[in-house]
Amino acid sequence: LLRAAHMRSRAKALDSRLIRILCPLQRQSRQLATATSRLPQSQPWSHPPASVNIDNDQVARLAAQPLRPLTLADLVRHGRPPLTAENLFSSANFTLSLLPIRLAHRIQALRNLPFIVVSNPHISRIYNNYIHSLSTLLPYQERRITNLEDEIQFTEVMADLVQTHSNTIPILARGFLECRKYISAADVTRFLDEHLRARIGTRLIAEQHIALHLSSQPHCGRDSRYQQDGCSSCIGVIDTALRPAEIIRHCESFVSEICELKYGVRPTVVINGQPDTALAHVPTHLEYILTELLKNAFRATVESGKEREPIEATIAASPDPPSSPLEEMKIDPLPIEQETSGPILPDPCIHGVTIRIRDRGGGISPETLPNIWAYSFTTFGDDEVFDISNNGNADALNAISGVGGDSSSLAGLGYGLPLGRAYAEHFGGGVQVQSLWGWGTDVYLKLRGLGRI
Ligand code: ADP
Ligand code: MG
Repeated sequence: LLRAAHMRSRAKALDSRLIRILCPLQRQSRQLATATSRLPQSQPWSHPPASVNIDNDQVARLAAQPLRPLTLADLVRHGRPPLTAENLFSSANFTLSLLPIRLAHRIQALRNLPFIVVSNPHISRIYNNYIHSLSTLLPYQERRITNLEDEIQFTEVMADLVQTHSNTIPILARGFLECRKYISAADVTRFLDEHLRARIGTRLIAEQHIALHLSSQPHCGRDSRYQQDGCSSCIGVIDTALRPAEIIRHCESFVSEICELKYGVRPTVVINGQPDTALAHVPTHLEYILTELLKNAFRATVESGKEREPIEATIAASPDPPSSPLEEMKIDPLPIEQETSGPILPDPCIHGVTIRIRDRGGGISPETLPNIWAYSFTTFGDDEVFDISNNGNADALNAISGVGGDSSSLAGLGYGLPLGRAYAEHFGGGVQVQSLWGWGTDVYLKLRGLGRI
């Protein structure tokens, strides 16, 4: 009884905390919520209408254009201080040059799925979201943004786009689970991998413009118009001096809460290596990845009864230039006078960081190991292996049907590893898993930062 009472009080405390920390993209969500409240609202942000008339020729024309790879450098380019109205317009026009093409590619990919799959109510909802978002951007196709009024309206469209596609991953996951009879697991993986990777970039482009818009507002700055609330080293959604150790601690506290709620215990996390390391990256991406890796480590540790063994997070900076430099990551050097005023990385320049998350949770069995990168693969619930090609189990489906089920439960969606890897690879990093079966697991998260911005 005492234990039940204790858990009830913890659940209550967690309830109020969850409101603030449910979304792993917390910091960004806060900024976006602020953006939402500050922007003039011409129409309520309700769920988009089920069908929007859209010019199919225009979709085909846009989808025929090649996708431009996105780099961190592209994103910071328009936000270098001082952030002028001209910079804001160029950010808006840059955003406009990318997003319609990206959305059209997604629409085309969804249309290429078997008809019975797109007819599934969950998948068709996702499809309608894309049609809706593209239809809000098409009016801007013929013109450039050159005045503040247009820019404000455009930012509103961006906020609507982000809102429309928020929390849609569980919907997509459920849709594909319901369609597993009609489409092969390999085709689902191929589609989801491409779709979710594209979604990461699209969302980031929209959020970057919103964040730059916000940072141009006088009330957002303290010492200068550029600064955002509480983040003096941010250029939009990119933190030029991001400290992984801080993100680990932040994610640890969230994961500990849900772990204790589920199992009644919480393992500890020890951070070692070079905890002072900082690099330029997108904090919300790192939050997503680390939350998922810690959830896996916590679950394995507790389920194998090793909760006394701390989980180890080792941070190692790599000062050397990346071994396979991406051409597009190269940044034009700034003129001297700007270079001293702009935010720069701590010396010596950090090109990348590797974070190793080590647990003593028994490792991954040889039967499970080949499946861990498949979307929807999970061993969570009923000790049965759940796979998209099998019949599935009720626990996993329930986890998926819950709104935001991917972030608030310890496991069950089967998206943590593949989506975490997609986030890491987006800017040239990666995730590797090394299992020592019978002992524990090491996960290496590699991040590539930017040199000097
Ligand atoms: P989920 O956590 O929802 O099951 P993930 O993609 O995060 O989905 O992980 C897939 C599977 O990989 C897990 O169900 C688990 O079987 C295995 N796994 C991942 N990380 C670990 C780990 N640190 N220790 C043991 N097994 C792990
Ligand atoms: Mg997981």
